[in-house]
Amino acid sequence: MKKTAKKPAAKTSSLTYATKNGYEKISPAELKHCEEVNQAYLQYITKAKTEREASDEAILLLEAAGFKDMRQYEKTGTRLVPGDKVYRCSEGKTLMAVVVGKKPLADGMHIVGGHTDAPRIDLKQNPLYENSELALFDTHYYGGIKKYQWVTIPLALHGVFVKPDGKKVKIAIGEDPSDPVLCITDLLPHLAADQYKKTIGDAITGEGLDVLAGSIPSSDKDKKEKVKHNILSILNKKYGVTEADFLSAELELVPAAAPREAGLDRSMILGYGHDDRVCAWTGLRAILDLKGTPEYTSCVLLCDKEEIGSVGATGMASNLFENASAELLNLTTDSYSELTLKRALHNSWMLSADVNALFDPMFPTVSDKRNTPLINHGVCVTKFTGSRGKSGSSDASAEFMAHIRRIFDKNGVVWQTGELGKVDQGGGGTIAQFMARYGMQVVDCGVGLFSMHAPMELAGKLDIFMAYKGYLAFLKDGRK
Ligand code: MN
Ligand code: MN
Repeated sequence: MKKTAKKPAAKTSSLTYATKNGYEKISPAELKHCEEVNQAYLQYITKAKTEREASDEAILLLEAAGFKDMRQYEKTGTRLVPGDKVYRCSEGKTLMAVVVGKKPLADGMHIVGGHTDAPRIDLKQNPLYENSELALFDTHYYGGIKKYQWVTIPLALHGVFVKPDGKKVKIAIGEDPSDPVLCITDLLPHLAADQYKKTIGDAITGEGLDVLAGSIPSSDKDKKEKVKHNILSILNKKYGVTEADFLSAELELVPAAAPREAGLDRSMILGYGHDDRVCAWTGLRAILDLKGTPEYTSCVLLCDKEEIGSVGATGMASNLFENASAELLNLTTDSYSELTLKRALHNSWMLSADVNALFDPMFPTVSDKRNTPLINHGVCVTKFTGSRGKSGSSDASAEFMAHIRRIFDKNGVVWQTGELGKVDQGGGGTIAQFMARYGMQVVDCGVGLFSMHAPMELAGKLDIFMAYKGYLAFLKDGRK
């Protein structure tokens, strides 16, 4: 009888699975690269405090790297060929960067999609009023915030007034150390007996988030509401705007503090808007660093409106991405058809680049430790998001998870899996579900955070670097 070759048993070391702290794995040369990438990220989030600014700053970086405005090609009908680098911005808010690949677009793109809108406090359309000789701006918060975190901190006012003739007046007050800042007041503990009885969600209300704007009365004796009038005349002198111009303005209050390195070992970055500029920027940096012509067309998205459900004309629940892909297809082929567009989208692979929640020993009960990202254990791949029984999740396939494993492991990406909290604790979603509509393969993949949606969020430098490295490996991948 012929002896059958015995299948070699797996090595004991590879029989089990456990993640490891990335600092115990990476080389000194990589550590240096990690530091350089993080310093560049710090510079970006220092300047990019709103979705519009995030888009503007990204365009500067793209143009410096030779990316051209795709709309110029659309206007002239100039064809795009493999290796061409273009970007397409919508409403100054949502941005797509593309490097045309060797394969036809119908074979699919490799997409990394993050978002640049972040939780914040917006001014209402008729915001300015006077009460008790104080000028205040009435506000409406944007995204999921814990309201009590936004009082008593310095706030900067960023945004744009658009005049009826279309003229734009951009403002950013509170970032320069010589600028004034704004602030929402809170109650002193001495008089907070009633407030203490409320729940943490009720102690500060949405309508209670009005921001203090001034206290000096105008010298004009005939005016009522002299303090409000004085603020209007300051704004008019400096920016040429009137009270009516608030009607067509988008003004956002964001933390006035600059991002900083955190921890005595400088292992983290404390800053506003990591969710999701940390993934949007690392995606952007990956496409900027892409050398040569990729096999598949690379596409990086910096999206708007994710924090309020990806709704609106600049959100991924709209047809914006599909329309932009149609334009791209039209520029890369002589035979545009709806069927080819559908194939291009269906055959695409995507990393939905968004943040996840790190395991926090201060709040150990909300997570399942074996299925929660740990700081420094690398970029986190989240197979499904959603809440309750995975409701609202796009749940990536095992096959696609296997592709990502192969790509990341082959390229030395330190990575882990994790879901957002333990079962039935809460949940969340990303743009993944809106992209999955096209039948494309998509999985969430991003940086873990402490204090997500707080005015200042914390992210680990190694995880930020590994997100960059993972996105770059994914864009380059030839599916072989
Ligand atoms: Mn997010
Ligand atoms: Mn978020």
